[in-house]
Amino acid sequence: MIKTDVLILGGGLAGLSTAYHLNECGGLSSLVVEKNAAVGGTAGSVKQGGFVFDYTGHLLHLHDPYGKNLVLGLLRGNLAAHERSSWIYSRDVYTRYPFQANTYGLPSKVVEDCLAGFFKTIHRLDWRPLSPRPSFRDWSLRQFGAGISRHFMFPYNEKLWRTPLSRMTTEWQGRFVPKPAASEVLYGALADQKKFFGYNASFRYPKRGGIQVLPDALAARLKPGQIKTSSPVLSVDLRERVAVAQGLGEVGFSRLVNTLPLVDFLDLAAPFPAAVRAARAKLRYNTVYCLNLGVNRAALPEKHWVYFPEKKYPFYRVGCYSNFAAANAPQGTSSFYIEISRRAWEKADLPRLENAVLSGLRSCRILKSGDKLLSKFWMPIRCAYVVYDFERTQAVEAIFKALGKMGVESIGRYGGWKYSFMEETILDGKRCAERLAGRSQPARLSPGDAQAELKPLK
Ligand SMILES: Cc1cc2nc3c(=O)[nH]c(=O)nc-3n(C[C@H](O)[C@H](O)[C@H](O)COP(=O)(O)OP(=O)(O)OC[C@H]3O[C@@H](n4cnc5c(N)ncnc54)[C@H](O)[C@@H]3O)c2cc1C
Repeated sequence: MIKTDVLILGGGLAGLSTAYHLNECGGLSSLVVEKNAAVGGTAGSVKQGGFVFDYTGHLLHLHDPYGKNLVLGLLRGNLAAHERSSWIYSRDVYTRYPFQANTYGLPSKVVEDCLAGFFKTIHRLDWRPLSPRPSFRDWSLRQFGAGISRHFMFPYNEKLWRTPLSRMTTEWQGRFVPKPAASEVLYGALADQKKFFGYNASFRYPKRGGIQVLPDALAARLKPGQIKTSSPVLSVDLRERVAVAQGLGEVGFSRLVNTLPLVDFLDLAAPFPAAVRAARAKLRYNTVYCLNLGVNRAALPEKHWVYFPEKKYPFYRVGCYSNFAAANAPQGTSSFYIEISRRAWEKADLPRLENAVLSGLRSCRILKSGDKLLSKFWMPIRCAYVVYDFERTQAVEAIFKALGKMGVESIGRYGGWKYSFMEETILDGKRCAERLAGRSQPARLSPGDAQAELKPLK
């Protein structure tokens, strides 16, 4: 039987980062067990016919000094910085993101609705205070007013979350939904406001190789044999401290780090108290069906991605990989991801959906009738978005309390059952490694991880 101090389930960014930082801390042996042939999980890429496709847009937003230094060091020479060019397409018009600050160009009735509703949220004196834990629906009405809610916030978020917004909390939105000032809302209705709002106003992305180069670079820093790929974990006995992985057999461990979707981990590990099983039944998630396309001309110039709130389009977002990096597509072509969300239990009829997607892309003129599709394939992301409904927080707290008592760490976007991004996932792994190693001070950078300076692209 293989034995390790720390067994890490999953070789996505969370698992790789944990192993990397455990090595930095020293002292504990660790082994990463990954189901797929390649590392990276949702931060991976697939190559087909000269195109590089990610699991929909994966842009690097680096806010933390340590996270930034680490990523810049890992991808030195292979990162470009971009100013975000993100748009909303509704009423046959492109407006800038975020909708709430950029209604200029929409039909005047829509602009009037949006402004009237927004200013009512400021000047109305008879509002009852919002509850301390409001629904997303109530919060949106109070933050942005009825017009902005009706024309964007409600239809877009209903398409993404596939959950009544009155049953969703606002816990996920803090960093992700910008709130402009009244003057900005007004100015953005009168003129094309070329101002950046929100947490991701700029981003970095690899010049070559798609986002896969990031997990690959982390994996390359691990010790030989520290990652076992093509080895799905089949079961975990938490009492005996033994896991079984296909092709490896039994793996004995002292400490366990889970980065698989929490629901999957709770289904393959045992034993758990009844309270954990009951809490697990309350966890909900969405599947994203990503249709990847390679097109024989440079379509959608100068736009990185576009949000589609209207029901007549089956997709909620379309993005252009070849506008993140020219090397993502052969010269003279372009490549796209088209995102459609479904509840985990909903069946998706992909051939039918594909027809509806292609006809939607033609109707908004991203595709033209003579375009040739050089590449076309679906990339489902089974557990893509954790749904923040009113049951989630309590359920997650009960599960994490029990896991803590069993000496199990569960981290990352899906192990931690949260809405987060790649840098945060890498930092989750760092903090986890430090807890396991009994260290509180930050891990140092490896020699050679010096920060690379990047210039924005013109
Ligand atoms: C649609 C979408 C768009 C996103 N866009 C961005 C973005 O623009 N910027 C950004 O910073 N972040 C983005 N993210 C978030 C980013 O993908 C995550 O933060 C990060 O990749 C999560 O890494 P992880 O290791 O926690 O999980 P995962 O990447 O899911 O890693 C878990 C690993 O476990 C493996 N596994 C599963 N089951 C088993 C098993 N039984 N045995 C062994 N291994 C198993 C999986 O194969 C996978 O490799 C996006 C996510 C999604 C879904």
